Amino acid sequence: MTARLLTAGPVVEKIKKDLVQRCEALKKSGFMPSMAVVLVGDNPASLSYIKNKKNVCEEVGAKFTLKQYSKEISEEAFLNEIDTLNHDPSINGIIIQLPVSDSLKKLNIPNLVVAHKDIDGFHGKNSQNIYAGSTDMNLLLPCTPKGIICLLNHYKVPVSGKHAVIIGRSLIVGKPLSMMLSNLNATVTLAHSKTKDLQTFTRRADIVVAAIGIPRYLTADYFNIDSSTFVIDVGINSVDGKLCGDVDTENVAKVVAGITPVPGGVGPMTVVGLIENLITASEKQMKGMI
Ligand code: NAD
Repeated sequence: MTARLLTAGPVVEKIKKDLVQRCEALKKSGFMPSMAVVLVGDNPASLSYIKNKKNVCEEVGAKFTLKQYSKEISEEAFLNEIDTLNHDPSINGIIIQLPVSDSLKKLNIPNLVVAHKDIDGFHGKNSQNIYAGSTDMNLLLPCTPKGIICLLNHYKVPVSGKHAVIIGRSLIVGKPLSMMLSNLNATVTLAHSKTKDLQTFTRRADIVVAAIGIPRYLTADYFNIDSSTFVIDVGINSVDGKLCGDVDTENVAKVVAGITPVPGGVGPMTVVGLIENLITASEKQMKGMI
């Protein structure tokens, strides 16, 4: 058996086409969708992620601004800069690129950007929608979980009544995804570094999501032979200068039903999901819905 490759390419192209039209409609009404990325320092991985975001933002016709500050920026100056962006009517979406410098880590970063410009979908008011059980995809949802759900939908992977095992309980991936899949009627197991005997869960799962951050951690032993499981690999790791995920794709693909590649899977879905949030936020701001 060889798994079906659940690539982002066709889904991303479809979403981008729709975003180009929505962006054009906003511009025709005199509204230029515009996002700002706040970066502290010059982390090379952050700069590379930002480049991808800028490219997709500009491809759909929206405006991109990078606000880059020194690692030595004081807490007060940083908060002032965010406050200025929050009040700037020409900026519709803001993200604070993580990680920030150590001295800023104690700030309540997810809630600094006002909820209606929070295109990362991290603000408490936005995550509240997921806690409340919403399945509305036209909200400011966290981009990686939203991208995973879009991929599952596109490839018609059944979710309702299925058992999803998510490995990793971060605030940006595992936790929100666990709620979103539960809202879609999956039975969810949220596993983490202290989970005992992970294989007993993954071997019984219909969907396994790996958001661990350890290169090729999930080997073929984590699955039954001829398993009907779909595997979503969120991990982005660099090994000898090459990107790889948290799943040993080459060997796992021999035993499961479907798998996302790295690169070319969850990563591009996350980026296009962010720009989709920008357009959604802009539409709501134009209609005075906030
Ligand atoms: P994180 O780095 O904050 O935390 C890792 C999680 O993995 C923790 O919840 C931990 O309990 C769990 N974990 C660690 N070791 C484990 C083990 N041995 N067994 C089971 N669980 C274990 O998580 P994150 O920020 O969600 O990042 C995870 C990975 O996903 C990283 O590689 C990151 O770069 C990647 N990522 C990719 C995207 C994307 O768009 N593709 C988006 C976000 C994160």
